[in-house]
Amino acid sequence: MITAASTPQALPAWQQEMRAAWRDPQELLRHLELDPARLGIGDDTGFGFLVTPSFAARMRRGDANDPLLRQVLPTRAEQLDQPGFGDDPVGDGASRVRPGMLQKYAGRALLVTTAACPIHCRYCFRREFDYGAERLDGARLAAAASWLTERPDVTEVILSGGDPLMLNDRRLRRITDALASVPQLRRLRIHTRVPVTLPARIDAGFMDWLGGLPWPTVFVVHANHAREFDDRVASALTRIRSAAHAVLNQAVLLAGVNDDANALTELMEAGFDAGALPYYLHLLDRVRGSAHFETDRARALELVDDLRRRLPGYLVPRLVRERAGVPYKLPVI
Ligand SMILES: *Cc1c(COP(=O)(O)O)cnc(C)c1O
Ligand code: SF4
Repeated sequence: MITAASTPQALPAWQQEMRAAWRDPQELLRHLELDPARLGIGDDTGFGFLVTPSFAARMRRGDANDPLLRQVLPTRAEQLDQPGFGDDPVGDGASRVRPGMLQKYAGRALLVTTAACPIHCRYCFRREFDYGAERLDGARLAAAASWLTERPDVTEVILSGGDPLMLNDRRLRRITDALASVPQLRRLRIHTRVPVTLPARIDAGFMDWLGGLPWPTVFVVHANHAREFDDRVASALTRIRSAAHAVLNQAVLLAGVNDDANALTELMEAGFDAGALPYYLHLLDRVRGSAHFETDRARALELVDDLRRRLPGYLVPRLVRERAGVPYKLPVI
């Protein structure tokens, strides 16, 4: 017998959208009226292809250089081994204080809540991360909370991943219930690309969870191109802003996606219109398989100088790079 609970209709809309996600690059390319044979798709390198329908809907049909497509399409360039590109470019391994928990910077601890992401970004520094060893299950969650309780200097917890908003409401609640026993916490930060890649996730159940949290929250979302901010993303961010203290956007400087002054200006303007102020603009983390996205420091400085000339100060992001062993995100100067 098919019960109501086993029909797909019973799933929240965002989970249904994940079920319908694009998992075969050839199929998405055909849908975009592009010829897969001409695009040099790479073999599966272990970091599978994944794109939500709502993100794919913002790609331009017939444009092989579409900046949104370029972020997710595996190409043969990924398979070239490049010197200086490795599997832990930001030194996460050395920052692990407990399974599922990293502390790299004073006052802040980061929880790896899940391996799942709504889309797979080819340049992602976590593509080589061993999530099996780090995922936060029940026992690890309790251990993380008790570690925090012994560290009164840590006043901010960052939920990260993967993407923490891929957890369902019940699992999110389990994490924040455990954190509620940590007396010195002043802020909860959420690092997520979901409002941009899967805006349907910001639904009534999620807002119930968010609205019930005992701490001020800061959302750091992630978009790299102006066209990632469509109306559905703007309404998701508006809902979040009704309950959060701040919504910021971080971007990665990516060759062929946003490495020109017009694209970056548009990104900052579009982010502002949708409700997110710029935070960091990252130089690429040198993870294996991402060399074709790299933009050099001199060009990056030139671009940020252009932004300063064009935009109000609050729309100019901080250009940074992450360096293993440095106790903050290193300003690029
Ligand atoms: C980036 C990062 C943070 C946050 O750094 P901010 O400069 O405060 O945004 C915290 N922990 C880890 C492990 C990070 O990589
Ligand atoms: S962690 Fe963020 S950047 Fe990396 S694949 Fe997931 S959504 Fe993309």
